[in-house]
Amino acid sequence: MDSLWNDQEASRFVGPLAQRVYTSRLLGRDRSLVLHGGGNTSVKIRERNIFGEEEDILYVKGSGWDLETMEAAGFAPCRMAYLLRLSKLETLSDTRMADEFRIAVTAPAAPMPSVEAILHALLPAKFVDHTHADALITVTNAPNGEERIRELYGQCVVVIPYVMPGFKLAKLCAEIFSRHAGPETIGMVLMNHGLFTFGETAKISYERMVDLVDRAEKYLARHDAWEIELPSAAESKTAQRLEIAALRREVSAAAGSPVILTTYGDALGLGFARRADVSTISQRGPATPDHVIRTKCVPLVGRNVRAYCEGYQQYFQTHTAGRQLTMLDPAPRVILDCELGLCAIGRTAKDAAIAGDIYQHTINIILQAEALGGWRALPAQDLFDMEYWDLEQAKLKKSGRSLMFTGEVALVTGAASGIGNACVESLLARGAAVIGLDVKPEIERMRDRENFLGIACDLTNEQRIGESLEKGVRAFGGLDILILNAGIFPKGCRIEEMTVELWRRVMAINLDANIVLMRDAHPLLKAAPNGGRVVIIGSKNVPAPGPGAAAYSASKAAMNQLARVAALEWGRDRIRINSIHPNMVFDTGIWTPEVLQARAQAYGLNVEEYKTNNVLHAEVRSHDVAELAAEMCGPLFAKTTAAQVPVDGGNERVI
Ligand code: ZN
Repeated sequence: MDSLWNDQEASRFVGPLAQRVYTSRLLGRDRSLVLHGGGNTSVKIRERNIFGEEEDILYVKGSGWDLETMEAAGFAPCRMAYLLRLSKLETLSDTRMADEFRIAVTAPAAPMPSVEAILHALLPAKFVDHTHADALITVTNAPNGEERIRELYGQCVVVIPYVMPGFKLAKLCAEIFSRHAGPETIGMVLMNHGLFTFGETAKISYERMVDLVDRAEKYLARHDAWEIELPSAAESKTAQRLEIAALRREVSAAAGSPVILTTYGDALGLGFARRADVSTISQRGPATPDHVIRTKCVPLVGRNVRAYCEGYQQYFQTHTAGRQLTMLDPAPRVILDCELGLCAIGRTAKDAAIAGDIYQHTINIILQAEALGGWRALPAQDLFDMEYWDLEQAKLKKSGRSLMFTGEVALVTGAASGIGNACVESLLARGAAVIGLDVKPEIERMRDRENFLGIACDLTNEQRIGESLEKGVRAFGGLDILILNAGIFPKGCRIEEMTVELWRRVMAINLDANIVLMRDAHPLLKAAPNGGRVVIIGSKNVPAPGPGAAAYSASKAAMNQLARVAALEWGRDRIRINSIHPNMVFDTGIWTPEVLQARAQAYGLNVEEYKTNNVLHAEVRSHDVAELAAEMCGPLFAKTTAAQVPVDGGNERVI
């Protein structure tokens, strides 16, 4: 491991807090050091308060912040004197400690200080860095881990046995540190947890971290435990989307609500899942108790969700030890399957991505520790105590509020612009993970977020539709909502001038593509945990066609009839299908200001009058259509199928 410190870059960060921001980001950039909010850093600064008195303030990372994207505002300023007084208490519950932290903070808007704040205050150095470095955890979790650590670092570090984070750990560290720290001490190893380093400048503390982790990496290399060969695993070529959707349905049932299930059928996921010893080495526990919250104690090997849940119930009963606890949902968060590879599960796409990321690191740590002589995790009771920690329970309760479509997956066609793009936004705003299909390749780069997958797809290509569904289901686990929006509206053309090419092109996109997509999506929608939903973006032209739009009107009318038949056929599969008939939606790609101006003029109206030329004199926007499309998939329309609702401001020809 190399230091990422750069003098020129560093010089732009002036003052101790800015320097603290800089090296926090350097730590965060290395994903083998910290993952997803893990790790924390601090700096002690003497400041003058409003009374003109000098005070020592500990700026410690606030919870909810990631080191990689750290800002000065992400540090919580705490009065050192108060934290040090707290550390003198005999006992302090973790929930009370969290309350006391609020009191210690000098800025009301500051984030909640890290649970390790007292520990940071107790370490006698200006800068303190803390990571959960993979290489270090690999060594502590191998046989005779503590001996190995002492052999590796000698007097450079003080070693702390495993204790759950919180007040007890802070006290224990202070006690052991004061007895064992010497002039050579540059860090502190917390067994099965991570590493602290410290120094008088941000650079010293950071580079000590890099140095100690580098030594752990070299130690692994010396013991042939750095580069691990996985059995070669060819990615499956056959379609697996129905199997994946069936698995997600079972996991959702166990979790009590729909979940996102992300499949990693790569060399790492498949290679690990196909190891002959996977059902023993994967069952010993996570790399650090920190991970148990995201990945559960152990993954499910294979697909027997029911047996896993029974096992979880037993684990809960065995370790509750008479305490009043409510069992979390028993569904697995990680599945290892020899056909699918690694499946990561979460309430949201982000949660699933975090679980997947953590478990990929866990696989490496397990394999390296195996090469060192055998992977050891903490006793199940320690892991359980972390999983059912008061502070985590409180956090879960706070983040437990879910949106209408949390855990559900939607697919929108024609998603790059206009109504389709607006539908993506409305569905994301309601918590869905969204697959956006569009013929335009830019769809793949439109949004950089875990809960959106853009796929460039020509809907007239049957094979590409199948591939897109496969890709979407691998990303999110299934399909709950389908919005059929893609369509073209060719220039006006009377019947006597119609070419077969134009007619067929309109039918191919507006009609044929949808029958293929509906056919291929049906088994997925049928497996949707809460029942499948389809919304057709139709047109006013269905009830009120216009001259010059024969192909368009006929395609939309055929689509309308198709939706009605689908409603009849799919009702028994708990799939409902409803249509929206928009009219005069002008904020779409087709309507440039010039076209709008020309059309308005043709009717002898100004643009504003033309846009609101309906019964309500209301302009209809893409967003209005999208919001109705989203709501049609929600509880408001739970008992409605085959409905056709206009969004047109009231059209006299339809009324
Ligand atoms: Zn930690």
